[in-house]
Amino acid sequence: MSRTVIRGGLVITAADEVHADVLIEAGRVVALAAHDSEFTAGWSASADRVIDAAGKYVIPGGVDAHTHMELPFGGTFASDTFETGSRAAAWGGTTTIIDFAVQSVGHSLREGLDTWHAKADAQCAIDYGFHMILADVNEDSLKEMDVLVEEGVTSFKLFMAYPGVFYSDDGKILRAMQRGAANGGLIMMHAENGIAIDVLVEQALAAGRTAPRYHGEVRHALLEAEATHRAIKLAQVAGSPLYVVHVSAEEALAELATARDKGLNVFGETCPQYLFLSTDNLAEPDFEGSKYVCSTPLRPKEHQAALWRGLRTNDLQVVSTDHCPFCFSGQKELGRGDFSKIPNGLPGVENRMDLLHQAVVDGHISRRRWIEIAAATPARMFGLYPRKGTIAPGADADIVIYDPHAEQVISAETHHMNVDYSAYEGKRITGQVETVLSRGEPVIDGKTFVGRAGHGQYTPRGTCQYLI
Ligand SMILES: [Zn+2]
Repeated sequence: MSRTVIRGGLVITAADEVHADVLIEAGRVVALAAHDSEFTAGWSASADRVIDAAGKYVIPGGVDAHTHMELPFGGTFASDTFETGSRAAAWGGTTTIIDFAVQSVGHSLREGLDTWHAKADAQCAIDYGFHMILADVNEDSLKEMDVLVEEGVTSFKLFMAYPGVFYSDDGKILRAMQRGAANGGLIMMHAENGIAIDVLVEQALAAGRTAPRYHGEVRHALLEAEATHRAIKLAQVAGSPLYVVHVSAEEALAELATARDKGLNVFGETCPQYLFLSTDNLAEPDFEGSKYVCSTPLRPKEHQAALWRGLRTNDLQVVSTDHCPFCFSGQKELGRGDFSKIPNGLPGVENRMDLLHQAVVDGHISRRRWIEIAAATPARMFGLYPRKGTIAPGADADIVIYDPHAEQVISAETHHMNVDYSAYEGKRITGQVETVLSRGEPVIDGKTFVGRAGHGQYTPRGTCQYLI
C-alpha cells in the first residue's frame, strides 16, 4: 500500500485553514496532524513519497461542475477531447470535472449517455462524472430520468434558449421538474428567453448588425432575468430545487437572491468569464470579439461587482467554467458576417483555480471562500462530498500544492487546452499550481505532467447534498 506525506503546508478547506501534515494511504487521506509532532515524524519514515509543501497551500483539487468536451455545436465540435481537456484541467489544479452528456431530439437518454461514456472512457487524466442534457422531454425520457439518478447521473440540464435544438417549453420544463422533485434529480437551467432572443437576432441581422458585439446586445440581460424568474416559479410549482447555470446579469442574480430570501432551494453558478471579462471584449475589432462569444453572453463591466457580491453573500454558490472551446481559426470564423453562426463557448477549464486565487489576492473573496465555491460546494451540490471537495480523513487524495507567491502570465503560448487562443491572454496572476495528486497519484509534479489518459475514473454521484 503506497503512503504519501505532504509536509509543512497550510491546509485550506472551505471550513478551516490549519498548519498540518497530510497522510495519504492507498489513494485516500488517512489523517491530518500538527507539523513536527512525534506522530508525524513516524509518517515520513514509512512513506514512499514525501512532498515538501513549506510556504505553500495544500488545497482540495478543484471540482469543475460545468464542462463540454467535444460538444457538437453549430456544425462543429468543441476542440478539447476528454484527453486534452482533462489534462488541461489538471494543469490548472482541477481534479474532477462533471461534463454534460447530450440527449438529442428523437433519441433516448441512454443513447446520449453511452455516447459520452465512449468519448471519455480511458481518456481522462482526472476523475469525471456526467450530467445529462434533456433535449427531448417525453414520457420515455421522463421515465429514464429515474434510472439515471439510480446510476449516479443525478442532474439534468434544460434549456429555455436555443429553439429547435435544446429548447424545452414551459410545460416540458414543469414535467421534468416534477420528475426531479420525485426522484431526487437536480434540474439545472440555461435561463434565457430563447424565443424572444431569436426575434432580436433576426432583426439585428436584417439591419446589418452582424458583428460579434451584437451577440451580447440581442441576448438582453432582461431576457436572462425573465427566464430566471420563470424557472424559479416553475420550480416552486413543481416543488423541486433549481440550479441556474452561468448567471451573468445582475438582474438575473436579483431574481435568485429574492427566491433565496424566501428560503427556496434555488442555486446559482457563475463563471470566470463573467467576473473578469465584459462586452468590451466582445467589441474588440477585426472579429476578435468572436473569441468571447458564449451564452449567456458577457455583460457590461458594471455587472461584475454584483456577481462578486453574490459570491460573497452566497446568493451565488458555485464558480464553474462552462469550458467549451472553439478555435478562432476555422471555428469561430464560421460566424464572420453573421454573429449568430459563431459557435458559442469559451476555453477556461485550466484557468479557473488561478483566476479565483487572483480574486483572493484582489480582495474579492477569502481563501476559504475560494475553496468553497471552486471545490467544496460543487462537490456537495452534485453529490460527490466528502469524497471530493475537501481534505479530511476518508476523502479521495485529490490534492493540489499551490504556490501562492508564484507569478505567471496566462497565454495561449503556454496553456494546455487544445485551442488557439486564450480568453485571458496576457493576464498576470499571482499564484500557481505546483503539484497535483489524483487519488494519491501524481498528475502534475513540479510543473511537469506525469499523469496518463485513463487514470481518471468515471465517478457516479449521489443526489444533491446542498438542500436547505
Ligand atoms: Zn454549458
